[in-house]
Amino acid sequence: MEKIYNYINGELVKPKEDNWLENYNPAIGEVYGLIPDSDEQDVDSAYQAAQEAFPLWSGKTLKYRSDILLKIANLIIKQVDELSLAESIDNGKPLALAKKVDIPRAATNMSFFATAILHENSDAHLMNQVAINYTLRKPLGVVGCISPWNLPLYLFTWKIAPALAAGNTVVAKPSEITPMTAYLFSKICQEAGLPKGVLNIVHGLGPKVGEPITKHPNIKAISFTGGTDTGRKIAAIAAPMFKKLSLELGGKNPNIVFADCDLDKAVSNSVLSSFSNQGQICLCGSRIFIERKIYQNFKKKFLEKVQNLTIGDPLENTTKMGALVSNDHMQKVLNHIQIAHDDGGVLLSGGKQFIPKGRCENGYFVEPTVFEGLSYNCATNQEEIFGPVVTLTPFDNEDEVLNYANSTKYGLSATVWTKDLNKANRVSYSLQSGIVWVNCWLVRDLRTPFGGVKESGLGREGGTYALNFFSETTNVCISYD
Ligand code: NDP
Repeated sequence: MEKIYNYINGELVKPKEDNWLENYNPAIGEVYGLIPDSDEQDVDSAYQAAQEAFPLWSGKTLKYRSDILLKIANLIIKQVDELSLAESIDNGKPLALAKKVDIPRAATNMSFFATAILHENSDAHLMNQVAINYTLRKPLGVVGCISPWNLPLYLFTWKIAPALAAGNTVVAKPSEITPMTAYLFSKICQEAGLPKGVLNIVHGLGPKVGEPITKHPNIKAISFTGGTDTGRKIAAIAAPMFKKLSLELGGKNPNIVFADCDLDKAVSNSVLSSFSNQGQICLCGSRIFIERKIYQNFKKKFLEKVQNLTIGDPLENTTKMGALVSNDHMQKVLNHIQIAHDDGGVLLSGGKQFIPKGRCENGYFVEPTVFEGLSYNCATNQEEIFGPVVTLTPFDNEDEVLNYANSTKYGLSATVWTKDLNKANRVSYSLQSGIVWVNCWLVRDLRTPFGGVKESGLGREGGTYALNFFSETTNVCISYD
């Protein structure tokens, strides 16, 4: 049984109460390790360590901070095989995907913010003959970072990299469902020489660890990625304390395919945006709206590709879809499939649990599932499923599809397929969405603002948006007199 530990004040330590939780390998449905079931006392130790480390870390030169974060990035790359395997076992995602996307992106998150701070500048506002104003940016102090299970190390580093680069010290909580790569990351921080207490990682459950981080009177900001309901709970606690809040929440993203698109490209990217990471990416497009003229053609090509997706053992090179993250999550997805049937949906593909032969026969797999014939406002088309379930819906004109697309409480991302640039601009403007991709999906420039509107979140991550979130600004006005 592999045990993992909290990372507090530079040391790998047991939880104070010596309580442990089981860690599952979702592809085989078995417990393979134990993780700390930490509580408020562990959060407090982490806070104390972070508070003590703050003057040293915030007082270091940008070059010093940058060098250490770059060392961490390089160690991630050096250990890409070990980290990818750990991510795949912990999460159920295909090993090939972890190796191609998750772990390299974790390294890039670190190097991106490590170098961004070397190129920053600050505003000055000149008042002729009167005064000069300049904007001073200072780190906040100790900040909290709480991340989900779908892209474990990728989203964990996406938060802590800008927090640390900006000079803050951190108390972080990865998802208790996928803690392994955050644990390996603590060892990397030790190896890279990150001073003790600068980053502290407390493993455990949301209510026992996440909530004490949120409630802590001296933790100045909370950067959270996860579900909308959890985000609402966090906001209810943190807002009256006037903490800075960055909330990256759920989505129910539209994928709009106009008749004038490059159909083959739209089809193959739609398969990816529907089923990558088993549909467990907040940016997956689960509602596919297709202009009626090409509906039948799109459907035929799309289903052909879906039926060819290899599902099964995440460690096999040919696997395109692995296991869902947990039995609970699989049951939730299967329940949504039942609701789609009850709503009168026509099943075009999948629709059941998948049981692979061999070592994964007890794993949590669900077939890639496609429905049609559902109204745009039924539960299946309104609620986030966060699994391999998509719907196909025809539309006749722009107004109609915008009405469908904007009808949910979410507004994270949208995808538009068309060769008409004017239409692309018009539709992008009218979509209620934090991110719009035109003729592509998941193309990411880390400098761009990342985040959602409506119940998909609050604030933006990425580039200077993230560095600003983790800083406080002061305007200094100096008289010429
Ligand atoms: P959750 O909201 O359940 O959990 C996210 C994190 O918050 C976990 O670490 C969780 O711990 C913790 N947590 C749970 N309850 C509390 C609490 N009361 N106070 C503080 N922290 C708490 O989300 P999931 O992990 O299930 O992730 C899936 C969700 O994340 C989906 O809705 C998805 O859309 C969203 N997401 C959004 C992204 C975006 O950028 N907008 C990106 C990726 C995912 P524990 O694991 O113990 O429950």
